Formats: sequence, C-alpha cells, structure tokens
Amino acid sequence: MGGCENHRLHIFFFPFLAHGHMIPTVDLAKSFAEKGVKATVITTPRNAPFVSKVIGTSKSNDNRIHIQTIEFPSTAAGLPEGCENIDSVPSPDLIHTFYMAATLLQDPLEQLLLKERPNCIVADMFFPWATDSAAKFGIPRLVFHGTCFFSLCAITCMRFYDPDNDVCYDSGSLVIPNLPGEIKIEGMSVAPYRRPGTAMFKLLAEATESELRSHGVVVNSFYELEKVYADYFSEVLGRKAWHIGPLSLCNRDMEEKTNRGKGASVDEHECLKWLDTKKHKSVVYVCFGSTVVLPDSRLREIATGLEASGQQFMWVVRKRKEDGVEWLPDGFEKGMEGKGLIIRGWAPQLLILEHEAIGAFVTHCGWNSILEAVSAGVPMITWPIFADQFFNEKLVTEVLKIGVPVGAKKWVGVEGDNITWDAVEKAVKRITTGEEATDMRNRAMELSKLARRAMEEGGSSHSDLITLIEELSSLTF
Ligand code: UDP
Repeated sequence: MGGCENHRLHIFFFPFLAHGHMIPTVDLAKSFAEKGVKATVITTPRNAPFVSKVIGTSKSNDNRIHIQTIEFPSTAAGLPEGCENIDSVPSPDLIHTFYMAATLLQDPLEQLLLKERPNCIVADMFFPWATDSAAKFGIPRLVFHGTCFFSLCAITCMRFYDPDNDVCYDSGSLVIPNLPGEIKIEGMSVAPYRRPGTAMFKLLAEATESELRSHGVVVNSFYELEKVYADYFSEVLGRKAWHIGPLSLCNRDMEEKTNRGKGASVDEHECLKWLDTKKHKSVVYVCFGSTVVLPDSRLREIATGLEASGQQFMWVVRKRKEDGVEWLPDGFEKGMEGKGLIIRGWAPQLLILEHEAIGAFVTHCGWNSILEAVSAGVPMITWPIFADQFFNEKLVTEVLKIGVPVGAKKWVGVEGDNITWDAVEKAVKRITTGEEATDMRNRAMELSKLARRAMEEGGSSHSDLITLIEELSSLTF
C-alpha cells in the first residue's frame, strides 16, 4: 500500500451519535489507518472524549486518526442542552426527535468538508443526506449501516417485493419475499420497516435509497459467514459493497480491547479474575448492548430464569430509574454469590466474550454483539428487542445455526416484551447441555476461525479493504 502512503488518501468517518455506531466506525477508521490512510472521525464535542478513548493509543493510530468536532444544536431541535448521544436522551418519547435532529448536522458537516477537503466520506445510514453533501464536493460517499448482509437483503426485499397484503404486519407471520432461504418472520417484529406514513419508515426508506445513490456500502461482516446474502446483495439487489469485518478484531491488545466502549463499571482485571476461577465454557454472559433498558419486571424474569437454569452467569444490567417493581427476587444476590456476577453499567465485552470460561451469550442481537460472539466462537440465546435485531436473530438461529431464540416476537419499546423466566431457563439449558448444544458450539468455533482468517493478510475482508482503498485512490489521484 505504498502508493496510499505517498498520496495520503484522506477519509472522513462520520458515525451516528450512539455507542453501537461509534464503536465499529472507529474500528473502521483504525483499519483504514493501518493501511496508511489518513482518517478523521467526525463527532460532536460531548462525544469527542469517548471517541478519543476508543481510538486510544492503538499502534495503528500513529497520528493517522484525527477527531474533528461539529456542533449539534440540541436545544434548537427540542432536546435538552448537551443531549448529544442517544444514550443521554432523557425520555423514550424524545428518541424520535433525536433521530430527526441529526439532519441539523448537515450544514456544519459541509463547512468542515469545505475546510478539510477529504477524498471520501464514510457516513452512517442515519445520515442519508450525506450523499448530497459529498456530491457538492465531488467526492464519493460510502454508507455504513453497521448491520449484516442478511439483514440488509431482508430489509430491501421486504420493502420492494412485499405482497400487497399488509395484514400480516399486525399479526401472523410472513416469508420474507424473494430472500434466499425461505425465512419466515413475525410481522409484528418488523412492522416499522413496512408502515408507510411513519417518520421511522421514512428515515429507514431514505437510508436504503441512499445506498443506491452513494458510491457503495461498507459492511462489517466477512464473506464466509454469509456468502449467499453477500452475493445476493450485489448480484440481485445491485448494490456495490465491500465486506471488511469483523472490525472488532482490529483491537489486538488488552488495552485496546478494554478501551473499546465507555469506561467499564468493573475493574477488567477483577472481572477476568472472576472468570478465571470458572470452568471452561461454564458461564453464560448476558448483555443487551448500549441502549436497551429493560423494565424492572423483565429483569426480574431474567434473574429468576438464570437461577432456575442452574448455570453460572455474568449479567450486565443497564437501568434508568426504578419502576416500582423489585427487579431482583429476595435474597438473589446473596444466594448467587460466587455463582453469578452482576455488572451494573458497562462491561468490557470483548474481553469477556474471548474468555474461555464463557459458554453462551444472551444477546439482544445488536450486530456488533453478534459478530463479536461469532469472532470469539460463542453460541447465543437470541432476545431481539427492535430494529434490525429480529433479522439478525434469523441469521444466527436459522442460517448459521449457532443460537436458540428465547421467543421474542414483537418490536417493543420501553414497555418490554412478555418473555417469562421459564423461557429463559429453557433457552439456557438448551444452549448449554446436550448434543444440539455441542453441535452449535462446534459450528461457532469453526466460524471463529474463519472470522480471524478473513482479517489476516490475504483473507477475504483484508483483501476487500485493500481493493476498496485502491479504488478510492484511483478515483482521487
Ligand atoms: N458493549 C460493551 N459493553 C457493554 C455494552 C455494550 O462493550 O456493557 C459494546 C459491545 O461490545 C458492542 C457495542 O457496545 O460493540 C454494542 O453494539 P450492538 O450493535 O451490539 O448493540 P447496540 O448497542 O447498538 O444496540
């Protein structure tokens, strides 16, 4: 990549203002920087310290990753002062305002493009207008969705090949039209992707549409994981795409893995020491990502289900405020001492998943979490809540067959779903014991090897990244 070094291709990376988007985007910037590209991550002042921490002291940084901030006029958008991350939105009814407020970033972004004149911008799917901004400056815009090929294909198929009958979105299920694999999905789990007239539908439609007007799509996945869907995305749906993941694997040392996220609420050494005392593959790790806050009544079902399963566990709990229900059964923590560890806040997930004591992962099916589990060879219990998570679940449970569903069937908000403790107990037992569990674990271990190979020199993701950089260089110089 000597050519790139000399010319210093300069790329803007512009993640949506949420941790689940900023984390992989910074990893993406690191991957480009390792190949000699100058990378600038664009964010807002209050998110800058977080981005800076994630960039950290990585060897690849070496002065090649920069941060530029643009103002986010939160008060003008009807949000509280300083509310610059989806994590700090004070109430669920303001979430939508937050998504809409993102359009106010267009002007400041264009001023920065004018000043810095990068050669390309990789912008989040939630900034569909970034394609127009890039066009004004005559540079290519790449879209980063942060999800997998399978879900990108499923969403597009549902939108374009949908049967006229919309009844199935209120109840019942449908086979996702034209998607390879005859995938059946509950209508209520994916309704917002289909309901014209809602603002969320409009935003998601614009995101899909901006794929076609952009230079292409960068996907945090690897070819061997979902070949059929990677090919379908480009050959049938006509998208130009590059697979460059799993991006989390660009964090190689302990420090990088620890810094990847918010400040952990536990000392990582303590947390790993606790796992060190456990047998190989004996602990179930439970975490619902960076934004989901489950109602206390759900947390209580999880606690009861984990206890009933008899398995050891490490459980990350995010809480906003009490809702009047005791979220832990009486004497739970005392009774589980040594057997279960509750982390309140943020956990060093990469380090945990890679620990050999972890045998399964209860996940909300955010794509980063799934891909991190795949990379670590950990089978999953899938518990989707909203967005692409229901599609991601299908990939894990029905295509890759490395997970079991807990039984969530409806896109939910703060009210939570109706999964009860016995479903949790059953799923934990199914993923940890018996022949089916062994098969899933073996398949997960096999995929982990393929994931690592994809990122090595000559691997599929490594090669696609180089192809992309060469193409961007040839467009520029
Ligand atoms: N994460 C973490 N510790 C936590 C919660 C989340 O490190 O306690 C990281 C996780 O490793 C992943 C990201 O935050 O990289 C969450 O992204 P995902 O797509 O799984 O879900 P989202 O937060 O976007 O819903």
